[in-house]
Amino acid sequence: MNSSKVILITGASSGIGEATARTLAAAGHTVILGARRTDRLEKIAAEIRVGGGAAEFRALDVVNRADVAAFANFAHKKFGRVDAIFNNAGVMPVSPMNALRVDEWDAIVDVNIKGVLNGIAAVLPIMEAQGSGHILSTASTGAHAVGGQFGVYCASKYAVRAIMEGLRQEMQQIRVTTISPGVTTSELGHDISVDDTKAAVDQLRSIALDTNAIANAVLYAIDQPADVDVNEMIIRTVRSA
Ligand code: NDP
Repeated sequence: MNSSKVILITGASSGIGEATARTLAAAGHTVILGARRTDRLEKIAAEIRVGGGAAEFRALDVVNRADVAAFANFAHKKFGRVDAIFNNAGVMPVSPMNALRVDEWDAIVDVNIKGVLNGIAAVLPIMEAQGSGHILSTASTGAHAVGGQFGVYCASKYAVRAIMEGLRQEMQQIRVTTISPGVTTSELGHDISVDDTKAAVDQLRSIALDTNAIANAVLYAIDQPADVDVNEMIIRTVRSA
């Protein structure tokens, strides 16, 4: 089954979100891209359209609940439905706890947890009225095991898994999928402010997956028949421990 769906994607200006937008559009879906860097979104959406795909974009700060609601309402108004949302925007300014980067802790909690909650809140009424929908969120392998210096980030991703599992248990006609990537090539961690931590994270890139691996997992979950709910996917390179 591969009928065209209307799909919102947050964090679509780079990395996993960008790759997923391109992959879903190439498969015939209509994608609505959201992020803060609209210059990037405009370029990606234009490239998708040149390739024959359907893409729109909107400026979006996932921390702002009204912004996320406007993002969903834009798509609903324009296309008459919202079939799926991929809550993918995230940040990873990791650091040792005793560095007390408390503003960065706040940013992780705000974007990675509240951003996902805002996405859920924006689409649930629309999907419940439709009697169908699909909510996908990006967690991480860091939602399955904690590493030093990643405590706050991992906590945010454990929270995403918990929220999604709670949602899944409540939903009947709405599908719920948590995507947990391992290390993937992207801009994630560009905002790490502790030099040693940044160097260690940069080293991890040597075992990074291509973003298309994650995009293909999202496409797989979305293109399943309506009665098939893919709840969790972990995608990592064979070289990972
Ligand atoms: P990138 O840094 O390349 O992409 C992050 C995206 O999130 C960007 O599009 C960015 O757009 C967006 N974003 C950040 N803050 C906000 C905000 N406040 N409002 C709206 N959009 C925001 O990294 P990835 O592609 O790797 O990250 C995507 C997701 O994958 C994240 O949730 C990340 O935690 C998760 N992940 C990544 C892994 C990896 O190794 N790369 C592994 C496991 C999980 P903009 O700045 O334009 O707003």
